[in-house]
Amino acid sequence: MVSSSLRPLETPSPAFICPFDQACSYLDQAAKELHLDQGLLEVLSHPRKVVTVSIPVKLDNGRVEVLAGHRVQHCDVLGPYKGGTRYHPDVTLHEVSALAMLMTWKCALVGIPYGGAKGGIALDPARYSVGELERITRRYTSELIKDIGPAIDIPAPDVGTSAREMAWMMDTYSMNVGHAVPGVVTGKPISIGGSRGREMATGRGVMIIVREAMAERGKTLAGATVVIQGFGNVGGAAAVLLHEEGAKVIAVSDATGGVFDPEGLDIPALKAYSLNNHRSVIGFPGAKAVTNAELLALPCDVLIPAALENQITEDNVHEVQAQIVVEAANGPVTLVADRALENRGVTVLPDILANAGGVVVSYLEWVQGLSYVFWDEERVNKEMENLMVHAYHRVIQESKMRQVPLRVAAYTLGVGRVAQALADRGLYP
Ligand code: GLU
Repeated sequence: MVSSSLRPLETPSPAFICPFDQACSYLDQAAKELHLDQGLLEVLSHPRKVVTVSIPVKLDNGRVEVLAGHRVQHCDVLGPYKGGTRYHPDVTLHEVSALAMLMTWKCALVGIPYGGAKGGIALDPARYSVGELERITRRYTSELIKDIGPAIDIPAPDVGTSAREMAWMMDTYSMNVGHAVPGVVTGKPISIGGSRGREMATGRGVMIIVREAMAERGKTLAGATVVIQGFGNVGGAAAVLLHEEGAKVIAVSDATGGVFDPEGLDIPALKAYSLNNHRSVIGFPGAKAVTNAELLALPCDVLIPAALENQITEDNVHEVQAQIVVEAANGPVTLVADRALENRGVTVLPDILANAGGVVVSYLEWVQGLSYVFWDEERVNKEMENLMVHAYHRVIQESKMRQVPLRVAAYTLGVGRVAQALADRGLYP
């Protein structure tokens, strides 16, 4: 494996799985398949730019706290950097760097002209008031003012952020440069140039990928049993759309715990319940309580981890009973667990394919903004569906041709496109 100057910044615990190392392992695998030139691999193994900023914030009680924020720009060979902004207590530079690399392959795989980036602040959003979160977001954006822009690097929502934070980022950037620049972020509110369909986009993409995977097995979504870990931006939307298509969503969970009903949960009712219950599914009438660990082990056709990284690991992979695992989150299956699932013949639809619907609609939002023409939701959904279905079938085809698992096939396609572009552009100077 190519060594990275990123390692080690933190003291790893014995159980520590370095997300950046894991991302590099997948890159190495693709590089082997592609017989990639060692120099090209070196370039692609390192982020181009790593920015860490201090974010001092005056809390409502008058105290000053200083948070750490990151933005990692992995590769802009295909176009401007693109990627979400994560607010979560576990955010580290390693994680953000790994996620930035994933964005590079994801954009290349689905054929949108972006490079990969990711940002994040180590904080628990639930511990801050709306005013505090706004000040944090604005200061973070100001610190990155020279590093972002519609032709440079375009942030979007990720875990712990939403259209609200994107509006603050857009406003801060615009006030700094002196004029409105909606294209600096995607996933923003429709009132300032956001796209119809963006909020549900990642979940819709997940539903499309599950539908295609079922179709390949001669089945439809109707009646398929689905378990979803995560009920937020991604898991919540996937649950609603899969339920609408007739799938039986038998269990879902959020950070507080999960609920299970073998007959299928009433997802619209559960959504409403969770909203009125401080965003918790716990106590949903008629359903049995399950822990997040129990949920992953439930018998089902499709298991969709849609929360955070490293949920299916060497410790619990033997408990997974699903025949198809769809990575709606980024990196929910560890490297070792991935191998174990593969050996057992379980199909894993990899993150860079399964959750690409979000960044695809981000791209469509950016295109609409740059052309000053806005589409109805039907058009947005259709354009996204075309790109997702095409990418799915390319991955299947590549996997058959190379006789490799879907993840290796997806990486081979994504990495291959970026490597080709890098080779064509040549190394500067
Ligand atoms: N955060 C999302 C992802 O991981 C969306 C990124 C974007 O739209 O730029 O794919």
